[in-house]
Amino acid sequence: MTANKGLLGLNEPQRAAAEHIHGPVLILAGAGTGKTRVVTTRIAGMLYNDIPASQILAVTFTNKAANEMRERVGTMVEEGMAKDTTICTFHSLCVRVLRSCIERLGYKKTFTIYTQSDQIGLLKRIIVRKLGKDESLDPKMANMMISQAKNSGQPVSDQEDALIAEVYRTYQKELKALNAVDFDDLMILAVRALEENPDVRKEWQRKFRFIMVDEFQDTNHLQMSLLRNLVGPEQNVCVVGDDDQSIYGWRGADITNILDFERFFPNPKVIKLEENYRSTNRILRLANSLIRHNIDRREKTLWSSRGEGEKIRLVSMPDAETEAEWIVAEILECHRIDRRKYDDIAIQFRMNSQSRLLEEALREAEVPYKLIGGQSFYERREIKDVLAYLNLFLNHDDDVSLLRVIGTPSRGIGQGTIALATQFSIDHQISIFETLNDFEFLATLTKRAQNAIEAFCDFLHRYSDSAHTDSANYATMTEELLKEIEYSDFLKKNCKTPEEVDMRRRNVAELIEGMHHHIEKSKRGLRGFLDSVSLAQDKEDKDDDGGEGVSLITMHAAKGLEFAVSFIVGVEDGILPHSRSIEEGTRDEERRLFYVGITRAMEDLTITWCHSRRRYGDNLPCQASSFFRELNKEEIDESDHEELASAPVEEAVAEDYFEQMKQMLSG
Ligand code: ATP
Ligand code: MG
Repeated sequence: MTANKGLLGLNEPQRAAAEHIHGPVLILAGAGTGKTRVVTTRIAGMLYNDIPASQILAVTFTNKAANEMRERVGTMVEEGMAKDTTICTFHSLCVRVLRSCIERLGYKKTFTIYTQSDQIGLLKRIIVRKLGKDESLDPKMANMMISQAKNSGQPVSDQEDALIAEVYRTYQKELKALNAVDFDDLMILAVRALEENPDVRKEWQRKFRFIMVDEFQDTNHLQMSLLRNLVGPEQNVCVVGDDDQSIYGWRGADITNILDFERFFPNPKVIKLEENYRSTNRILRLANSLIRHNIDRREKTLWSSRGEGEKIRLVSMPDAETEAEWIVAEILECHRIDRRKYDDIAIQFRMNSQSRLLEEALREAEVPYKLIGGQSFYERREIKDVLAYLNLFLNHDDDVSLLRVIGTPSRGIGQGTIALATQFSIDHQISIFETLNDFEFLATLTKRAQNAIEAFCDFLHRYSDSAHTDSANYATMTEELLKEIEYSDFLKKNCKTPEEVDMRRRNVAELIEGMHHHIEKSKRGLRGFLDSVSLAQDKEDKDDDGGEGVSLITMHAAKGLEFAVSFIVGVEDGILPHSRSIEEGTRDEERRLFYVGITRAMEDLTITWCHSRRRYGDNLPCQASSFFRELNKEEIDESDHEELASAPVEEAVAEDYFEQMKQMLSG
């Protein structure tokens, strides 16, 4: 009956979990015990047992994790068999739900997804309008507070700060008027749509009969509600997670969801996994010595048959520049002498800003790397320009895109006219596009301005018609668009150097290349393309472009991944644990984050910290992380950079140099 070869590689409890597909299943187990592997094998098993692929849903948190899962399933089944399974992030699942039924909530189906920079743009305008230019409410700060309020499900009136509450109310009202939703809305609205509409709910329950969630410990109450609404009467739901790896408390993740699981999905089959297949025993013991300092956790025994392994190196550095250089030298050695692939090596850090020095050092040494997180391709000016046009074609009410497009390049509609239109749209509570078509408004303008506006609206209608056709080749359409608006000339006029023009043009070409690729693999048209672009811009979750290289990655983004060789850098008090953790009482969560970092390593783990660090131009002294005191000394080899630098060159290294020298001399 089953030809699922994946099952052969599983241990007893893993196999039980993979084969038990009816009714609720809960797998709560430590890092590297094969939880994700159970999920992928389970999917392969269902496919071999003739469960239609379209009835299977697996959800996780990051695009990278979803892609990896999809790949793993792909290798386990025959070609094309897994094509119709849905393996995606929570956010992209919500987009699908909303594209099917958002009208029920008073939005139009063509809604636009606002990324963080769009949100901040909108907030800036609201703040200036409400408070005048002098008021110093930081839009980024406002954005953060609004997001927190949204996720905690608190009504605006509970917000302490009246100012924020007012900005929040206006923001939400205007978003809706723009027919746009932000990332938080995706979750909130999808849950509301399902909760308020039994027919919609039933339809989705019928669609996905088998549901799995990876990294369940990081779900918040909204994701739990989503799950409860999607799981149908058959209750075929399997969640896997590890309470020690819960690191999204700051985003409202709620560890009690695991306990609640039994409340909402009674009598689950509970499965325990204890064998770790990823790391050496030293790495596991080190991780365990740290995490056992957290109270309120389920004690787990983890063991590995991968041997003892090397001791973990703990190295202190004089400063962050030296740290970066030393690590890059280590990586080069690892690559040349141990023949490690760059893909098998990761450098993990706590904060995005820590990556800059590392990037510089890697570039200097010409070591290929992938920055996971960091400024996204899609945040570049020229890319945002093109995307604004495309978003506007699909949703005329998207004011943020319209305001970007209307003067890029300029088309005879001046700043004064734009300001008037914006004011009119606010006074009459209509979109700017509607304003531009409003006779009363047009009557206040000069003939010339009227003509320019008319030409602009005609232009929009013309492109919208083809953009809305699912079968349209939007890559070709975009090429025509760029010709028509003479975007290349615009770049020439607006860039400082020919190199900059060249770079921006190349980026645009790259974007169009991406469209061609998307057209080949997806039937969801321009809308589908723009959705995937927006979703790829989740702050913590920017995927790499697939090339080979060392991964530069935050510990948050590294969850679920594994690397043969791993460096964790800048482990100092104030960084890990983060300085905010004391006042916010999140020291335990910082400890879990460090635990996640440590358990990514399969064989080689090095942890570094710096005695001093440059901040605002000054060298400030730093202290080693207070977590070090908790680590089991027996697993650690402690040293400082000077010792290492003056140590004699190892034999293997010397031999390698000798070999290279010989090759050089022999030409
Ligand atoms: P995390 O908690 O970090 O998400 P996990 O529990 O999801 O970890 P996986 O990533 O599924 O663990 O597995 C860790 C590694 O162990 C992977 O390389 C996986 O292929 C391997 N592995 C899992 N189960 C087995 C097994 N039964 N035999 C051999 N290798 C296994
Ligand atoms: Mg996993």
